[in-house]
Amino acid sequence: MKIAIIGAGIIGSLIAREFTKYKVEVEIFEKLPDVGWGVTKANSGILHAGYDDEPNTLRAKYCSRGNEMYTELSEELNFKIKRTGSLVAAFNDKEVKILEELLKRGKINGVKDLRILSRLSALEIEPNLSREIVAALYSPNAGVLAPWEVAQAAVENALNNGAKIHLSTKVESIFEEGEKYRLRTSKGIFLFDVVVNAAGLWADELAESAGVKVTPLHPRRGQYILLDQPNVVRTVLFPTPSRAGKGILVLPTIHNTTLLGPTSEDLLPIEKEVTETTAEGLSKVVKKAKKLVPLINLSKTLRTFAGLRPENDIKDFVIKRESNMIHIVATRSPGLTAAPAIAGDIVGEIVEKLNLQKKDDFHPIRKAIPKIVDMSDEEKEKLISQNPSYGKVICRCNKVTEGEIVEAIRHGARTLDGVKFRTTAMFGRCQGSFCMVKIMNIMRREIGENFEEIVKNFPNSHIVDGVVR
Ligand SMILES: Cc1cc2nc3c(=O)[nH]c(=O)nc-3n(C[C@H](O)[C@H](O)[C@H](O)COP(=O)(O)OP(=O)(O)OC[C@H]3O[C@@H](n4cnc5c(N)ncnc54)[C@H](O)[C@@H]3O)c2cc1C
Repeated sequence: MKIAIIGAGIIGSLIAREFTKYKVEVEIFEKLPDVGWGVTKANSGILHAGYDDEPNTLRAKYCSRGNEMYTELSEELNFKIKRTGSLVAAFNDKEVKILEELLKRGKINGVKDLRILSRLSALEIEPNLSREIVAALYSPNAGVLAPWEVAQAAVENALNNGAKIHLSTKVESIFEEGEKYRLRTSKGIFLFDVVVNAAGLWADELAESAGVKVTPLHPRRGQYILLDQPNVVRTVLFPTPSRAGKGILVLPTIHNTTLLGPTSEDLLPIEKEVTETTAEGLSKVVKKAKKLVPLINLSKTLRTFAGLRPENDIKDFVIKRESNMIHIVATRSPGLTAAPAIAGDIVGEIVEKLNLQKKDDFHPIRKAIPKIVDMSDEEKEKLISQNPSYGKVICRCNKVTEGEIVEAIRHGARTLDGVKFRTTAMFGRCQGSFCMVKIMNIMRREIGENFEEIVKNFPNSHIVDGVVR
């Protein structure tokens, strides 16, 4: 039984890993050169509690369940989660009414431990929150993580359990051929028994190619500002939501920086790659974020970026089944949180339908790249005595060592961003100004590529454009 997963974002990666628990052949197709570089790369990285989603939607069905599943998943796949908790701040009585609505909705959606706090209790949890607030909705179960790391970890584990991945391979269309499906890709034609379309912003177009009608997607852009201002907030801070969405937030990231955003701007369906930030969007982020946390210091800006939500008119995920083909469309927020629960259900459905048998030798554990900054002095000493390259700091901002960069390459990094998104080297204050060349030298040595061949991320994103001595 051959199963194709199209898209190595958070959804496709977790589905692929889930299928490798069974006696099937799993192949992943990803048009980009690495895993988790689509919508999964640029978002808030929040494990939402699940009170925001309209009851009886797929978002509500999967959000709080997905949130809970992340605890076990992070232990198996060895990625970090910070259960920071979240606060929705109300600035007046009208907004307090919205908190009461959210509390009611949360209870219907099965969200645990949700409660409304007085102004003083909220300020105790979050001392830098605006003094103007009058109350806040508190959820201790919300958290933050690096979403791309989950996708990388899931794919690594899937590959260890026998899956195959075709990177830089675009699926152009899906055709039914008798009982099988023919995928026409940029690297040839492949036949499968089951196809899961988890192509994010492009899932609607791929479904169409297979003759399946789904509501079309348009991107909804979210612009962000990332600050090198650690510990300014402890929890994920939301304003009260509006029709446009959850609003502009202030949150601590898993890497101990502070993230402001996102905006919510509907773009045209043809603008699925428009990830530029704008002066207008960023000004809005600043204004709204400062209302929540006046202490924000913009002179600490590390970078700005934008992500695109795969949005549809019904504001819910769409899961369309056609025989043994499943299309997962409109994976807007909280798709990251919901992903493990969606993966469990989709795979469970196919397992039951096709009577797939469990493997005896599935290995759930993925070993992460050691992170020197997270280690105790004794752990560091032990590792460095075994491998001295862990004692050689390459990225001074985030204290990433040569050993970690070499390990990232062994874990599949073939571009500078591949190293960056596996180690956090070049993620810090200097954004690679000091360490990029050193990293290129390590890549040259480990992969055997010339300096001129090394790219930042996509083909043609070379760093040097001629022969370097
Ligand atoms: C601004 C913003 C903020 C968000 N914040 C949160 C949050 O805090 N918490 C939360 O739970 N959710 C959040 N989300 C939603 C979450 O990011 C998404 O639900 C999730 O990342 C979607 O994952 P995916 O796997 O469906 O899509 P993707 O990550 O885009 O994966 C799809 C993959 O398919 C590939 N692909 C596309 N077409 C093809 C093709 N033809 N052939 C081969 N490969 C193809 C793409 O390159 C991509 O890698 C946010 C989203 C945005 C944009």
